[in-house]
Amino acid sequence: MNFAQRMGRIVPSPTLKVTAEADKLRRQGIDVVDLGAGEPDFGTPEHVNVAAHAAIDAHFTKYTPSAGILELREAIAGRYREDYGVSYAADEVIATAGGKQALYNLAMVLCDDGDEVITHGPFWPSIPDQIKLAGGTPVIVPAHREDGFTIHADPIIHAITPRTKAIIINSPCNPTGALITEEAMTAIADAAARAGIWVIADLTYEKLIYDPVPHNLPRILSERLRDRAILCGATSKAYAMTGWRCGWAVGPKAVIAACNALQGHSTSNVSSIAQKAAVAALTGPQDGVTAMLEEYRVRRDLVWEWLLEDPRFECVKPRGAFYLFPYAAEAVAACGLRTTAEFAEALLQEAHVALTAGEGFDAPGYFRLSYATSREQLREGVTRIHEFVHTRARAAAARG
Ligand code: GLU
Repeated sequence: MNFAQRMGRIVPSPTLKVTAEADKLRRQGIDVVDLGAGEPDFGTPEHVNVAAHAAIDAHFTKYTPSAGILELREAIAGRYREDYGVSYAADEVIATAGGKQALYNLAMVLCDDGDEVITHGPFWPSIPDQIKLAGGTPVIVPAHREDGFTIHADPIIHAITPRTKAIIINSPCNPTGALITEEAMTAIADAAARAGIWVIADLTYEKLIYDPVPHNLPRILSERLRDRAILCGATSKAYAMTGWRCGWAVGPKAVIAACNALQGHSTSNVSSIAQKAAVAALTGPQDGVTAMLEEYRVRRDLVWEWLLEDPRFECVKPRGAFYLFPYAAEAVAACGLRTTAEFAEALLQEAHVALTAGEGFDAPGYFRLSYATSREQLREGVTRIHEFVHTRARAAAARG
């Protein structure tokens, strides 16, 4: 097909693909345990739903300003003020169709052909692919399981070249659950200030941190790099609102205006109804967020313990987000399979458990297991994984 060259640079989103495959099997009547989707199983909080119904009843169903209604932009700025003590004006905020569009807008706004953007791996697959779509080159600084996939400042700073345009830090990190320390963020912010480059903090999982560790990245960035730092986030994970598609970018007025110009020619505003829902989520009671976090913590501890009952899996306990990211090379080999992609595919077809293979995150040998699902589903999923490995390994050993 004579599609644009840029389409040759990307692959379909592996995280969305696994959900689609699980859905397909379900539609055939198969009982699938979906540990693939990075999506809370909780319902959207009731007061948020009520606000959305009220928006429809009030016929709040027309275009809004492309950057979002003032009330929402103020609510986003208000959340950051209250949570982190940083101050942004409404014209320093744009509402986007999920955190994904915030990052996409920035890639398009900041990258010229050949520009480099540094980020850390394993990564959320849309980050490098968005950079490639924009004509840039992702420069991946690896994190390592030996130290819990910690995101270190030094290798990131060393990767800066005259072509570097931006650094993207995702903390808590999808898929590893690792956090960057405030010291590392400070060092990166200072290096970026010296080099005159942008820092984008992808804070999609900012509300999902299990231990009370200092993680005030917004304050560090706004104090040390106010004119070149952008904070991205979303209602999706914290408020169980993935389908509403509401995220944001917060940063200097000029870059937000550029994102708005781009968005004005692509999607325009986030759905007016979703905007009203997001206002309710951000300004309403926040105790539901804490309750979900507590449940995720219990699930994390349970599923981590259960999975590791088979010593062929190794796994760091994640400090944030809602994914385990186990190293499974031994289990994969015991099954007579070559890659985690093959493992995930066979597991889905034979045991009907959906996981996301590490290959999509630039981490062959690993898989991602989402524990944003019920304890019963997690128990069933891990039981099926263990049985699958056991049966396959026995058959492989018998074959010699
Ligand atoms: N961020 C989620 C995940 O990694 C949702 C899927 C996506 O948008 O890529 O599974």
